[in-house]
Amino acid sequence: MINFMNITTHHIKAGWLFDGSNRQIRRNMLLTVKQGVFTAIESCTNDNSPVPGTLTDLSCCTVLPPFVDCHVHLSMSASTDPQTRKDQLTAPYSEIFPRISEHLHYHFAHGVLAVRDGGDSEGYTNRFREEQTETARDPVVMKIAGKAWHQKDRYGRVIGTHPQGDETLLEAFSQNNDSIDHVKIINSGINSLVEFGKESDPQFSLDELKNIVNEAHQRGQKVMVHANGRLPVQMALEAGCDSIEHGFFMGRENLRRMAESETVWVPTIVAMKVLGEGGGLSGPVVDRNVVEKTLEHQLKQLEFAREYGAKVAVGTDSGSWGVIHGESMVEELKFFMKAGYSLAEALECATANGAQLLGITDIMGHLAVGKPANFIVARATPAMLRRKLSYLEGIYIGGVPCSKDFFKKL
Ligand SMILES: [Zn+2]
Repeated sequence: MINFMNITTHHIKAGWLFDGSNRQIRRNMLLTVKQGVFTAIESCTNDNSPVPGTLTDLSCCTVLPPFVDCHVHLSMSASTDPQTRKDQLTAPYSEIFPRISEHLHYHFAHGVLAVRDGGDSEGYTNRFREEQTETARDPVVMKIAGKAWHQKDRYGRVIGTHPQGDETLLEAFSQNNDSIDHVKIINSGINSLVEFGKESDPQFSLDELKNIVNEAHQRGQKVMVHANGRLPVQMALEAGCDSIEHGFFMGRENLRRMAESETVWVPTIVAMKVLGEGGGLSGPVVDRNVVEKTLEHQLKQLEFAREYGAKVAVGTDSGSWGVIHGESMVEELKFFMKAGYSLAEALECATANGAQLLGITDIMGHLAVGKPANFIVARATPAMLRRKLSYLEGIYIGGVPCSKDFFKKL
């Protein structure tokens, strides 16, 4: 075992390297790390053999950037017990605090080193971050929406708030002083689990959406929009939002529009899959045939997104019914491959595209010279990677492996 404290430069030999770019997995690469930062990434040759004692040999492993989950709810557990789901919405902060910490640990242990939160009704995630100390157990980057915005008497209460009385969305938003990183707007209902393809009305007008997007962009904040169905998605795209969340039944025309814009799609497929597996037993009323068809339809949309060149990022909706923080990431990624993405294309959606959406490309996304040497390791050839990504060999921060107890639960 190398004592990293005693050396300033060390090397890592990677059997295979996916660095987040070029959609390529390269063979036999040498990574040089100095003071926690990559100083060289090159092919292994006889000329650049490292000095003995400074090499970590991962030649039977694939090295890749940490995952970025673009859609989570840190304040909510994935429980499928109806009472637990109900109770967690009214639980005091003292109960939610350790859960957020636990959920972050699950993310970390599965190689998810950055998450984008999609809203919590009490704004507890903001409070958690403010109170988190420098010695936080897991170094996971959190990007937070705080309270999501929905229209009064429409879907969204479980993760947000709404304008009061005659207030416009912009007025309500402007009066809110929560320290947030991005804005979450809910512009449709949720998917019907008993009627295939049922679309809901938009929650806000186009002007309201445009106003809030302009305001957020002026503040340097991106806007993520929950939208299912053709019209709610079309309006969100026209308003210039930064990402469409879910996007079920948005239709091919919206996917084409998305390909011509900078807007990213986060399709959250696992959340629908688990409803088909367990819904109706203890959870929501579900017609499994409808869920199955909805899932197939979403995969078809993902296939079109790839064909049209729309930018897509992986997000799980962890914390929703049955969607477990951390482990759902690879499950979601596998759906991308099912929809026709190559392994490298799917990995790009789960790493580089996510880092770009979160605005953290300086520390996450590509593995590149000058960036922190944070990466994950699977003991696998690329052919075995699909399965082995769920059982990581290691997580390296600043080029140093985290101790094996990162796999342990809290
Ligand atoms: Zn969500």
